[in-house]
Amino acid sequence: MTSDVARIATSTCDKLLAKKDTFGDQCVAVRAELENFAKTCKKLEVSDAAKKKAFDAMIKAMSGTLETTHAIDAFVRALEKVRNDARRGVFDNSGDAFPDEFRKALDAAVESYGEADIDDEPPLKKLRETAGFEKADDADEDVVLDDTHDQGEAALTCPLSTGLLVQPVKARPCGHVYSTASAKAFFKGQGKKCAVFGCDKMLKWSDFVKDKASEIALREARKRRERTQRSQAEEIDDEDDE
Ligand SMILES: [Zn+2]
Repeated sequence: MTSDVARIATSTCDKLLAKKDTFGDQCVAVRAELENFAKTCKKLEVSDAAKKKAFDAMIKAMSGTLETTHAIDAFVRALEKVRNDARRGVFDNSGDAFPDEFRKALDAAVESYGEADIDDEPPLKKLRETAGFEKADDADEDVVLDDTHDQGEAALTCPLSTGLLVQPVKARPCGHVYSTASAKAFFKGQGKKCAVFGCDKMLKWSDFVKDKASEIALREARKRRERTQRSQAEEIDDEDDE
């Protein structure tokens, strides 16, 4: 005989799983849009640096979409796992703690799915081809983007600390991104106005959620910077040899 707890957990998962095909609707539309952009990017009659800049902006947007696709996959797998656990009676003895344990099990399953690897995502590879760019890692000649990466990182700074984002969190009401430590300290207690110039949203710490897209963009920016530093160091080496 199935326990009430197992039945509730199972049917909740099943109801959500039944809707899984609708999870990605937005993703598909955004991707189609980005693909058009990649085509336009290739045709632009501007410098390679300018194209690269436009493309980098697109990659940033794309990272968000990929993250969403990845997040959907992770969520679907997690639902299936938790449903199967429930059927096996894992939650039967949890009593009042059931909602909490159910949520924790779901979180843990999502977490264990791991992070998206942008470089290896097929849609991103295809976009790079469409736009006429190589995968950044194997293009040593891409020092052209030198002047664009600073701006990329400037967009990844915390409006409070003004330093690069650390553990980025996003304010749900307005979408502005902060470092966890700054936002936590500044927005604790009663609501305060968003620190971004021109944004009037009142925010509380509870309005913030982890921002995976910025985390990925930070990682990409760091990789770009390291690559530039490496190639600059090589140039200096070459000069020393002469
Ligand atoms: Zn804001």
